[in-house]
Amino acid sequence: MARPKRWKSCMSENLLTLLTVAGVLAGVALGFILRASKTTPWTQREIMYVNFAGDLFLRMLKALILPLIVGSIVAAIGSLDLSLSGKIGMRSVYYYGTTTITAVTLGIILVLLIRPGVISDPNGVFITEPGDYKPPRNITTTDTLLDLVRNIFPSNLVQACTKYYQTDLIYPKNMTGVESMYDWKISHSYGDGTNTLGLVIFGIIMGITIGKMGEQGKPLLDFFTSLADAMMIITNWVIWISPLGVMFLVASKLLEINDFGAVVGTLGWYFMTVLLGLFIHGFGTLSVIYFVCTRELPFKAISQMGQVAVTAFGTASSSATLPITLQCLDDMGLDPRITRFVVPIGATINMDGTALYEAVAAIFISQVRGIEMSLSKVIGVSVTATAASIGAAGIPQAGLVTMVMVLDTVGLPAEDVSIIIAVDWLLDRFRTTINVVCDALGACIIEKMSRGELDAATAKQQEEAVELTHLSKTEV
Ligand code: ASP
Repeated sequence: MARPKRWKSCMSENLLTLLTVAGVLAGVALGFILRASKTTPWTQREIMYVNFAGDLFLRMLKALILPLIVGSIVAAIGSLDLSLSGKIGMRSVYYYGTTTITAVTLGIILVLLIRPGVISDPNGVFITEPGDYKPPRNITTTDTLLDLVRNIFPSNLVQACTKYYQTDLIYPKNMTGVESMYDWKISHSYGDGTNTLGLVIFGIIMGITIGKMGEQGKPLLDFFTSLADAMMIITNWVIWISPLGVMFLVASKLLEINDFGAVVGTLGWYFMTVLLGLFIHGFGTLSVIYFVCTRELPFKAISQMGQVAVTAFGTASSSATLPITLQCLDDMGLDPRITRFVVPIGATINMDGTALYEAVAAIFISQVRGIEMSLSKVIGVSVTATAASIGAAGIPQAGLVTMVMVLDTVGLPAEDVSIIIAVDWLLDRFRTTINVVCDALGACIIEKMSRGELDAATAKQQEEAVELTHLSKTEV
């Protein structure tokens, strides 16, 4: 009789995850049924109606991101003493660095070994119809990297909530082709979208400052802690909409796609190379890193991250998944001082799936174009793919935009991004899942490594609180 009981409790514990997985499957079924129900392609308006519920779900998640990121980072860092937050910070940097470098290296090895751009049918239609695809802005790698650094230091915090800085190049009217970049005029504008990197850095500095202020900074610390807690309560409500939300998001995406053949056709080898890389990184490399750092197997932790993985797949956005990731780690019993520190920063700068994909895609396109890959070019790709993954926003297909920088390293024009665009919507979902799971596993690893220090810090804080009450009582 014990079996059905255990089965029941397992079902109820994982009810939400099961419902969300069912939501994805129902979304795929709904998408295909709706496609088959019409002989003409679905219009934008019709797709918008199908996507409506999914859009509402995404809007709710997105609304939580900003207060959650700033509140969580300030609260986590502000509640730790400086030397401990420094140690946790260094551990996070090592983790982000190691996982990103191993992901890029794995991607490069696989794409050079499998050579998808060479073995694919050379007569295949590689260049997909441009359709509505707008080529990214023409900009040099140097300017992209400098913009990344500029955005770390926003000049106006309120503006950073909705805009980010970007350099614009103005070419001379009568270009002869012999001008160098030193002859171009430089201007700048502000693009629509949150400058998350700038806000993360502000959160870190604010947290350190509050930590240093001690008692004087307590009201501010209480404010940010309470803000983050409130956002988590709202997340707890929104999370229950995720099965329906992902169902409509997936169904409407399937209606938008006009080239399913590319996944198995000319881009099939490229698709499989990225997928294989993501699989090896997610289940192999990250598991080894987990074991080396904690001396424990990661499978229990990974199995508890189902909800996170499905939401990342459904939304294709690490930022939108952030509230759900934090909720899941809270449910797993992890220390919020670690999760609220490691995960929001990770969701912004640590994107292993994106880094791996950027490297594979750039080398795949070079192979299609018949460009020889010298060692210096391979090194260039690995460095720019890492930078591109740090600079990519946690939103759908952001990697496609930062890819321009990687292509520039191998001497390819921005327009060549259109070669891979037909399958990018699907690869994006897989790489986002790896991006998010990697951050969540990082939080588990760093928490296990820091547990002794965290317990000591809690004991010290409790001692100080007791002393303070004792002191105030004797004063009275
Ligand atoms: N969609 C990805 C994310 O949010 C970014 C990308 O690779 O395009 O993590």
